[in-house]
Amino acid sequence: MRLDKLLANSGYGSRKEVKLLLKQGAVSVGGETVRDPKLHVDPDADSVTVFGDPVDYREFVYIMMNKPPGVVSATDDNRDRTVIDLLPDEYRRFEPFPAGRLDKDTEGLLLITNDGKLAHELLSPKRHVGKTYYAKVDGEVTAADAEAFTAGVELEDGYVTKPAVLEILSAGPVSDIELTITEGKFHQVKRMFESRGKQVVYLKRLTMGPLRLDPELALGGFRELTDEELNELK
Ligand code: URA
Repeated sequence: MRLDKLLANSGYGSRKEVKLLLKQGAVSVGGETVRDPKLHVDPDADSVTVFGDPVDYREFVYIMMNKPPGVVSATDDNRDRTVIDLLPDEYRRFEPFPAGRLDKDTEGLLLITNDGKLAHELLSPKRHVGKTYYAKVDGEVTAADAEAFTAGVELEDGYVTKPAVLEILSAGPVSDIELTITEGKFHQVKRMFESRGKQVVYLKRLTMGPLRLDPELALGGFRELTDEELNELK
């Protein structure tokens, strides 16, 4: 990879700032001072230093966020704040993106990474990665709803959903449920309940594959995945 990219990704400033460092002669590769930002370096093999200090390079970042309502799961947006806007520069410099989408009003678990391969695998429909949501539903959710979700329900566009597991936590005028689905159609949970004549009034994602939302994370809070979480995901 290019030396300026490696240095920028390692926290030494923007590409412009990194170029200045190079100009000053602060950077060495394999013990030799280098000034060419375009120089190709192998982060695993070449020892790169800045003012004599070894550069601690890493390629990927993996962040768990408790997405708050009112922000969109995108990298940029003309109107709304994005989940990326909530991250400090030390993470944004990796150019991460949300792996999958939650609606603007949905809360909860969102993985933000720059590892395209991992994101692709997690989101691939072939993988059937399970996602569990907690929801408050207007109306009494019943065993008949659970049976319908097990069999698959027809959405308004004619799509029939794959089997899903509905757990009724409490049924009443407003019911509390957990629903596990293995696909990710647009507004899927809301549309599944709409097919049963019921409306989701609050939605929060709790899990995605082996990843579980850290209960310590406040809304809008984030942290890097632990090595254990990352190993389970890979
Ligand atoms: N299903 C929905 O309806 N909305 C989400 O944000 C996620 C799943």
